[in-house]
Amino acid sequence: MANKKVVVLPGDDAAPEAMAATMDVLRALELPIDFIEFPPGEKWVRGETDKQARDAIDASDTTLFGSTSGKTTSIMYLRWGKQTYANVRPAKWSPGYRSPMAHPEGIDFVIVRENLEDLYLGLEGPLQELAPLKLKSRILRGPLDTSERGIYAIKVITERNTRRVAEFGCQLALKRKRAGGKGKLTCTSKYNMLRDADGFFRQIVEETAAKYPDIKYEQFIVDDFARRIVASPQELDVVVMPNLYGDILSDAAAGTIGGLGLAPSGCFGDGYAYFESVHGTAPDIMGKGIINPTATMLSAAMMLDYLGLTGAANRFEDAVRKVYAAGRSLTVDQGGSTKTSEFARAVIANL
Ligand code: ATP
Repeated sequence: MANKKVVVLPGDDAAPEAMAATMDVLRALELPIDFIEFPPGEKWVRGETDKQARDAIDASDTTLFGSTSGKTTSIMYLRWGKQTYANVRPAKWSPGYRSPMAHPEGIDFVIVRENLEDLYLGLEGPLQELAPLKLKSRILRGPLDTSERGIYAIKVITERNTRRVAEFGCQLALKRKRAGGKGKLTCTSKYNMLRDADGFFRQIVEETAAKYPDIKYEQFIVDDFARRIVASPQELDVVVMPNLYGDILSDAAAGTIGGLGLAPSGCFGDGYAYFESVHGTAPDIMGKGIINPTATMLSAAMMLDYLGLTGAANRFEDAVRKVYAAGRSLTVDQGGSTKTSEFARAVIANL
């Protein structure tokens, strides 16, 4: 069989340090993969490298992505160009993870964040632009005053996108149920206040879940859900939510297991998927060699699973978990003093 083609975009600031450590482990696994590696965002000749990266992405099976602060511009293509609508963000505690919770045992849930719309379409501008629309506010029971100095931002929720994210969430809950999971789908949004937009999201998810009799369905208003992440995360399984809430609450979810250094993710479309950590580029620790590469490593393990290399994915994940269980080679964010590259060596030793 031909080798798989994986584009590697190391990202910006401290992200390439986590990627280098992850690549060390991937190489040690000796996989049937050709890696097409690009330089960190700082070294991109903007348009030129972006074009090369797009072509490589089109010719690839998947992409492993370091976080970007805007320099690695291909993120737009990976997301909107490739229509990767479901951002899957697992929060799973493992022994040795430095969780602030008294009882983190059994935390194992997945946020499926809608990845393409909501408030993320860049539809913002001065209030005056809205004047010709003569908008009436349901809350004010009258027209919106557009004479004030102010800015608007538009939130878009479409049926098509919500339905495919909801379907993805249901399928994931089924898959997890087959592996011993709870078989539960939770939907959250601010449907009591944003009755039209978030209410529509909730309605579509509920309709979709109703087609899956083997899945339990529940829904919570997003502020109540935020409390539940802290109070009873063990009760959660798969949670579907709009983009902005997903951005915020997956950082909170990562907090329950021990922080951003531990949270992987994958962004799935119908024809393509790419993998990246939940965290940003951690510019404050750039160049120090101390970024925790676990989130990028576990994203790479998710990628191997997506490529059908399930055995290698499990080996990779198990090796990472063994390093935590042993507790001798932990990075600074986990209370240790192990450098990023040394952490990679510890994982390789456990493969
Ligand atoms: P974005 O908006 O791009 O998601 P952010 O605002 O969430 O970014 P991050 O870059 O994720 O910011 O960093 C938040 C804090 O967490 C920073 O202090 C950073 O150093 C720390 N941090 C993030 N990722 C890691 C990691 N892998 N290892 C150690 N510390 C990390």
